[in-house]
Amino acid sequence: MDLLDSLTAKGLRRELPTREEALAVLATSDDELLDVVAAAGRVRRQWFGRRVKLNYLVNLKSGLCPEDCSYCSQRIGSKAEILKYTWLKPDEAAAAARAGVAGGAKRVCLVASGRGPTDRDVERVAETVDAIRAGNEGVEVCACLGLLSDGQATRLREAGVHAYNHNLNTSEDTYGDICTTHTYDDRIDTVKQAQAAGLSACSGLIAGMGESDADLVDVVFSLRELNPDSVPVNFLIPFEGTPLAKEWNLTPQRCLRILAMVRFVCPDVEVRLAGGREVHLRTLQPLALHLVNSIFLGDYLTSEGQAGQADLDMITDAGFTVEGADEATLPAEREAAVTVRRRGAGTDLPPNA
Ligand code: SF4
Repeated sequence: MDLLDSLTAKGLRRELPTREEALAVLATSDDELLDVVAAAGRVRRQWFGRRVKLNYLVNLKSGLCPEDCSYCSQRIGSKAEILKYTWLKPDEAAAAARAGVAGGAKRVCLVASGRGPTDRDVERVAETVDAIRAGNEGVEVCACLGLLSDGQATRLREAGVHAYNHNLNTSEDTYGDICTTHTYDDRIDTVKQAQAAGLSACSGLIAGMGESDADLVDVVFSLRELNPDSVPVNFLIPFEGTPLAKEWNLTPQRCLRILAMVRFVCPDVEVRLAGGREVHLRTLQPLALHLVNSIFLGDYLTSEGQAGQADLDMITDAGFTVEGADEATLPAEREAAVTVRRRGAGTDLPPNA
């Protein structure tokens, strides 16, 4: 297939495919699916071998959010019967994180519901990072606390946070349909603040919210432009009690095409299979390991994943290995090609103009 030969060649060179090529991946037939997976799998192996990075979520503060993101079980007015609690104490969060690290997680993702943290919240997170890293120096900590205000990214960096997650979720054109309490530009701004502070940016999407193929390609191209180090791909978990509860739009085959498209557009980026993999990929989950190089171990923020041991068995059975704490995730070529901006907006230094 000319399309797949072209996409593979570009992926191996870290070259951006055209929008038409990305759209064509989403339009392939079920008969072509294994060819698509094999082609994107070549690109995945070029940059990440057969390693799978494990990440572990700790929900520091759950539910009762004043924002109205329609996909989220923690949103204002959500009737979803999720756990609701305020900030975990540092030792409670550290105990949860230890379980994930013991299971093989290399990164711990500290998440809190809400529009964004107060400076006091950032200090709480700093204490939590200390507690997690006390005995676990090598663990990567990612924070996901919502929209950041001036100086907070720098404070998190100083506290030992390695990465900051803030997803774009969907295309700029459809953002207003899924959330009215903040904007797409607010999200872009927070990702840029994190990058400017020297944090590794993690930003991804949610598929399955009723978006078009063009929307999916738009958000993935926007992510490529934003240049995060990791791109989590979530498949909507349609929680009862949220506005998107009836949106069951995905098939396992479509999920694989979406993951392949993301791999072709972001060939050397950590592409992480995130929420919804069990419910949407179901028995095809192992095929996704040929496309992504990172998954969450165990449970999600408000829903349960399959047993952690089942994740580990799946990785072994599919012929992949868990990435060790001493192994670099990103290819050296990517690290060398990217100079993290440390001047201009978000810093005390003059812009480069
Ligand atoms: S800001 Fe975060 S926690 Fe709040 S509704 Fe949106 S996604 Fe959910």
